[in-house]
Amino acid sequence: MACEVKTTCPYCGVGCGVIARVDDDGAVSVKGDPEHPANFGRLCSKGSALAETLDLDGRLLHPEIGGRRAGWNEALELVAERFLQSIAEHGPDSVAFYVSGQLLTEDYYVANKLMKGFIGSANIDTNSRLCMSSSVAGHRRAFGSDTVPGMYEDLELADLVVLTGSNLAWCHPVLYQRLAAAKASRPEMKVVVIDPRQTMTADIADMHLAIAPDGDVALFNGLLVHLTTSGAIDQNYVSAHTTGFAEAFAAASALNLDGLSAATGLAQKQLRDFFRLFETTEKVVTCYSQGVNQSSAGTDKVNAIINCHLATGRIGRPGMGPFSLTGQPNAMGGREVGGLANMLAAHMDIEKSLHRDQVRRFWGAPAVASKPGLKAVDMFRAVADGRIKALWIMATNPVVSMPDADVVEAALKACPFVVVSDILRDTDTTRHAHVLLPSLGWGEKDGTVTNSERRISRQRAFLDAPEEASADWWQLAEVARRMGFSEAFGHASSAEIFAEHAALSGFENDGRRDFDIGAHASIDRAAYDCLEPFQWPQPKETAPQEGRFFADGRFYHPDGRACFVPVQAPKARLADDALPFTLNTGRVRDHWHTMTRTGKSARLSAHIAEPFVEIHPSDAQTIGVADADLVRIESPCGTVIVRALVTARQAPGNLFAAMHWNDQFASKARIDALVPPITDPFSGQPASKNVAVKAARFAAR
Ligand code: SF4
Repeated sequence: MACEVKTTCPYCGVGCGVIARVDDDGAVSVKGDPEHPANFGRLCSKGSALAETLDLDGRLLHPEIGGRRAGWNEALELVAERFLQSIAEHGPDSVAFYVSGQLLTEDYYVANKLMKGFIGSANIDTNSRLCMSSSVAGHRRAFGSDTVPGMYEDLELADLVVLTGSNLAWCHPVLYQRLAAAKASRPEMKVVVIDPRQTMTADIADMHLAIAPDGDVALFNGLLVHLTTSGAIDQNYVSAHTTGFAEAFAAASALNLDGLSAATGLAQKQLRDFFRLFETTEKVVTCYSQGVNQSSAGTDKVNAIINCHLATGRIGRPGMGPFSLTGQPNAMGGREVGGLANMLAAHMDIEKSLHRDQVRRFWGAPAVASKPGLKAVDMFRAVADGRIKALWIMATNPVVSMPDADVVEAALKACPFVVVSDILRDTDTTRHAHVLLPSLGWGEKDGTVTNSERRISRQRAFLDAPEEASADWWQLAEVARRMGFSEAFGHASSAEIFAEHAALSGFENDGRRDFDIGAHASIDRAAYDCLEPFQWPQPKETAPQEGRFFADGRFYHPDGRACFVPVQAPKARLADDALPFTLNTGRVRDHWHTMTRTGKSARLSAHIAEPFVEIHPSDAQTIGVADADLVRIESPCGTVIVRALVTARQAPGNLFAAMHWNDQFASKARIDALVPPITDPFSGQPASKNVAVKAARFAAR
């Protein structure tokens, strides 16, 4: 009989509610859930094509060892044995998990528990490191916690929305639709887009600031100085609720207007107009995403933005605040359970002995890792140099998506033991696995995800598990049992894991943590199945709290105040005649990550059919390239050959290429092979937006 199931889109961090319908003949169709508070019935092109991506072509349906089909028991025994062997011979830090914002929170929770609590290493990191870890670091420096203060509604309530480093129209399309609809209904509302490219998002902007790559710290420092000198600082708020304003102001004052203009690439009039608009508009939301985070100064950029909101007290109130937009569907859920190598579960701090002890006692763990593990780029370095001898990769394709992707591939080839859990049998990464474990895909798996506004929603199964595919949490728990940790990994369902996760969040928590969903600690299967989308926190003792953080001016630093962080504009990269262009990497509207799912939809693939590079007409003329010619792009790390898209939307001297395609599509199409492994010193996030390259017309022989 036909049925309808409410679930959540598996692509971007907007986290739209989806109603999936399965007809009597098994045909699946999807529509937006009109009751879901993220999208109110809307879906973007990717979300509406979900039903086109559910076939079993190319699926990994059975465990494999060395390319031959194996039984689950044999495969799980081998994984447990090889991990135990490596730990016994080389210590717990010789093994690692590289996981993904595609995992459900329950998968993430079990992976983190096994690695940090029972293996005793913190070598678990996630591809979300590539997406939003600079925001996490910036939040923690400013607020004492990794807390997104606002909610989506704020974009509709604001009188000024500043979008910096965010192509919202393509990367968070439903949120863009909400913003565009709000702007259409309130003509007085202003939108400023700060981006080196004139993206589709800029089409609704009242002001587009084509900022120089990595000019954001200078811009927001300049804004802080302007707000101060124009008397727009909320002195009462700063005095009562913050520390460090004088130091932040002193650091921000390093550049005068000429210096600001040079550092940002913006005319002084543009700077003055933007500063004045921000100064005179009370309700301001500043949204930022990969263009801010993916930088060697990403954390400083985040704090430069937050500094301006703290200085004006514009935080935690309707239509006001800094707002980090996460890229992945469950980047936020991974943060909640400690999916980053430098965090513990439930937003606890791995470097605090009190937190380690709480987690250890709650889990009944022998010892909790006492120092941060290796972050993504460093983890693959450790694989390359032999420190990591056993690696388990889950739901991600690092051979395409990691910086210095050629080196990552070579590292996997050389690694003594690689396990990959995936839904597909043949990806650039699965080819290097000694053991392949078949996982459940969207529509088959069952659990929760958290979107950018801290809203936890259910992903529900509406399809049977194909062949032997199984949940990632089950695979992890089965390996844990075989490693001798049966008692702590006896979970029988995702509902049990969610309840344990909720209980830990409220365990011995007397208001010291932002993340607390202890109200769900006793949830049973029936209640879990009916769980409606909700925002955290939801502590046990109080009524549900939907909405914003910090309205009361209380933060999570020990003194209860927020911190201004003094930040200085990074030095511009020196001009290099050998590498004259700056490559900015990103995404297109209709594909997701390495296209393992969206590539199945002919409709989505028709939007942009092949890998490309955007280049300004003057640069194209300089290197003798016409539209649709092939272009060879080289960095010290690698080479790609892609199609030229000549467009004045691209700033002169800058190139843009999307990271979705791989070498299976066309030889030399992996854009991330060009990106050097340079990272932000606080977050470890790679700098994927400012890559020195050269470009030339490619004439195929
Ligand atoms: Fe899915 Fe994001 Fe599109 Fe919503 S906006 S339908 S979450 S891809």
